[in-house]
Amino acid sequence: MPSIKHEALRCLKCKNAQCAAHCPVSTPIPQVTELFLNGEIKQAGEMLFLNNPLSAVTSIICPHERNCNGHCVLGIKGTPIEFFRIEEYISRFYLETMEIPHIEKNGIKVAVAGAGPAGITMSILLLLRGYDVTLFEAQDNVGGVLRYGIPPFRLPRDLLDMYKGILLRLGGHFRPNTRLGSNIMIDDLFPDGYKAVFVSTGTGRPNKLGLLGETLGHVHFAVDYLKTPEAFALGHKVAVIGAGNVAIDAARTAIRRGHSHVTILHFMGEEDMTANRDEVEMAEIDGVEFVHYAQAVRILEDGVRCVRVNRIVDEEGKVSFEEDYSDTFVVPADSVIIAIGQGPGADIRSSGVKLTGRGLFEVNEWGETDTPGVFAAGDIVSGPKTVVDAVAFTKKVFTKMEEYLQNNA
Ligand SMILES: Cc1cc2nc3c(=O)[nH]c(=O)nc-3n(C[C@H](O)[C@H](O)[C@H](O)COP(=O)(O)OP(=O)(O)OC[C@H]3O[C@@H](n4cnc5c(N)ncnc54)[C@H](O)[C@@H]3O)c2cc1C
Repeated sequence: MPSIKHEALRCLKCKNAQCAAHCPVSTPIPQVTELFLNGEIKQAGEMLFLNNPLSAVTSIICPHERNCNGHCVLGIKGTPIEFFRIEEYISRFYLETMEIPHIEKNGIKVAVAGAGPAGITMSILLLLRGYDVTLFEAQDNVGGVLRYGIPPFRLPRDLLDMYKGILLRLGGHFRPNTRLGSNIMIDDLFPDGYKAVFVSTGTGRPNKLGLLGETLGHVHFAVDYLKTPEAFALGHKVAVIGAGNVAIDAARTAIRRGHSHVTILHFMGEEDMTANRDEVEMAEIDGVEFVHYAQAVRILEDGVRCVRVNRIVDEEGKVSFEEDYSDTFVVPADSVIIAIGQGPGADIRSSGVKLTGRGLFEVNEWGETDTPGVFAAGDIVSGPKTVVDAVAFTKKVFTKMEEYLQNNA
């Protein structure tokens, strides 16, 4: 693998940089690379952090092939720059050496619900502007899916500890194990002096298959499993139902925890899987077996009954899938993990804020809900997406929220 300096030297520093244009947070890639090559790593780190406080995370887990890396001009005829490796190095260095600036406090209280990527981003942006932030989190630590979903072999946990340290050093208050909407309601916050509330509680509730057998003792949901894999006794053979990144993370975690035979089954073909191509490839390398075109129809004590699915492409190229009920088979399993998507939790949905048909928070393009002073961003607004998308929209909401706070506090 070429060194990061070598990668930076290859960068053409394009005026109309397509890498930056295709980054959801418009990372100033040529400028950061220039600073890095001039030996100004702190300035490069600050530029990255102020543009995207989570650059240390997104540099590792973004789908780079869809964003910066996939649009580097050098990739047209050769090998695109791996800027994300340069960014990872600079961003971690910046977090490790970050000096907290003196910030004049403005005394305006803001509540943030949910300490995932959106909540961390909003809290940092508010704290840097002098607001008095209290971050309410249902779990015992910050990170959201970054800590309680994405496995540590993909994202080191010490990064998240550094973010917690920064939030506290910036003067933020953290209320762990506090689920907004269970006893403390959004309405309770305003009488205590909070001038605005930002909701970023994500989509942590797993979707059900709705099949017989789903409540049996050897059946689990992937997002529950990934929270604390050590709590689960899965046996030797594990079947994972799903075709996305969550299914892949569950399967790769199960393999690492010694469950010797892990199978991912789903109704589509390999080319239709929603998981990133490189994640699928890594799962194959790890030894995960894939059963494509298998529609689960019942969960048994010792496996998953499936029917074969045919892939049909019509004249316009539209793809559909049709079960062939004459062709059934069983994928043997001691345990079954279900990974077919997530939705918002029930608690925060009863907040009185207007919801969409999918139970997500309904907001305008600036993240404003129908309740004055209540804003939202991240997966609770978009449904399951990516970290960088959560950061990008949170940044936009921040500008509106600041305007609101300046006019109403
Ligand atoms: C297993 C898995 C792997 C993924 N892999 C990737 C990847 O590789 N790259 C990528 O870009 N994206 C990935 N994603 C998607 C990405 O993690 C999400 O898009 C992102 O975390 C959304 O951020 P968020 O802040 O909106 O929500 P979350 O990360 O879900 O954070 C929400 C937080 O709110 C807390 N909360 C919930 N309810 C309450 C309440 N009532 N009161 C207080 N707190 C509450 C939760 O405990 C959680 O900490 C993955 C998702 C999963 C599940």
